[in-house]
Amino acid sequence: MRKVPDQWLSSILLSMYQRPAVTREEIIRSTLLNGGSASQALRYLIDSGTILKIGELKSKAGRRRDVLKLNPEAGYFIAVDLETARIRYALTSLVGDIRFRWEQELDFGQGPDISNLLFGIEMVRRNLEPWQQSRVLAVGIACPGMLEDDRLVTAVNLGWHRFPLLDKLSEVISIPVFLGASCRAYVLAEQGVGSARNTANCVYVELGKGIGAGIVIDRRYLEGNHHMAGEFGHITIDPSSDSQCNCGKRGCLEALASISSIVRRHAKLSGKSPSDRNGAHVSEVFEKARRNDPVALKVLDTVVKAIGLGISHLVLLFNPALVILGGELLLGEDLLLPGIKRELANHLPAFFGPPPEVIVTSLGMDIGLKGCALLAFQNSLASTDSLKKLTTPLTEAIVM
Ligand SMILES: [Zn+2]
Repeated sequence: MRKVPDQWLSSILLSMYQRPAVTREEIIRSTLLNGGSASQALRYLIDSGTILKIGELKSKAGRRRDVLKLNPEAGYFIAVDLETARIRYALTSLVGDIRFRWEQELDFGQGPDISNLLFGIEMVRRNLEPWQQSRVLAVGIACPGMLEDDRLVTAVNLGWHRFPLLDKLSEVISIPVFLGASCRAYVLAEQGVGSARNTANCVYVELGKGIGAGIVIDRRYLEGNHHMAGEFGHITIDPSSDSQCNCGKRGCLEALASISSIVRRHAKLSGKSPSDRNGAHVSEVFEKARRNDPVALKVLDTVVKAIGLGISHLVLLFNPALVILGGELLLGEDLLLPGIKRELANHLPAFFGPPPEVIVTSLGMDIGLKGCALLAFQNSLASTDSLKKLTTPLTEAIVM
């Protein structure tokens, strides 16, 4: 019977996530455990194979210190990123490395049913060996739109209104399922394995078919009263605008700067009839702008001004050190980023000092999957059953 408290194990495991090499002393510093507790918990985790010794450091006095890392094969997660036009599935290692992938395309407004999701999950899970199957700890899912009480999903693009996704999946999946809003998953990925690892205050801005923000202040993700903090796309940028937003308002940032609004506005100013606009893609607008097409440049100028102004509000409200941009709109990074930075600086008062750093995510299209894996990892550490699975020696069958 294990006598090491769950809390000691989970704080050590959390502190080691994605750290390729760490010493006992560094673990003590980051977990604030006392030396005796840390040693006891580490011995247990090394004996079970959850943590691996990967080398030794020798001090000048001749003292040896073990170099440790998490064993990526100690557990696995299933990550599901519900995007606007497709679902990405991945089987990840304990530390979020993607081992197997699967994708399903979606029609707008046609959300997947539960059997679709189960099929996708099975397509990545079936690649594991039988001994690995029992070490799949949890499913992490990133949901677009609105997520109430971590259970109910409302997403126009999926045709879901207060869809009880968590309850439905929990009825048919034997391992824990955790849901997170997409922007939460994205900013979590940036904190865990991306550019925000050493930043206590950062904002992730998703710029795609929808626009949203994940806000981290003092290392804590901002949820809000109904978990709706960060509905950045629906702040009004131009009250006099006649651009209609999906939310029913006019002049929202999303109505001015989302991918569909860019395509629509470019087509309209180019004199295309509504039937000619179908199938147009934002990359065509970017290509035209690169060839100095005046209509495309005019459309993107509006976009840059709207996004820069919007981000200045985030910066003044939350004072982040870092603003990370992601999403399909960044296909036009060369055309948009310099202008966004310029507009942001223009809208900050002189006393505020220099604007925060604004960068594009380095995690690419995998950002949602990485965030889902970390969401599942963090939540699993709070579960006694999952910790038991994770610390069952790899040579033993897991009996739960
Ligand atoms: Zn809106």
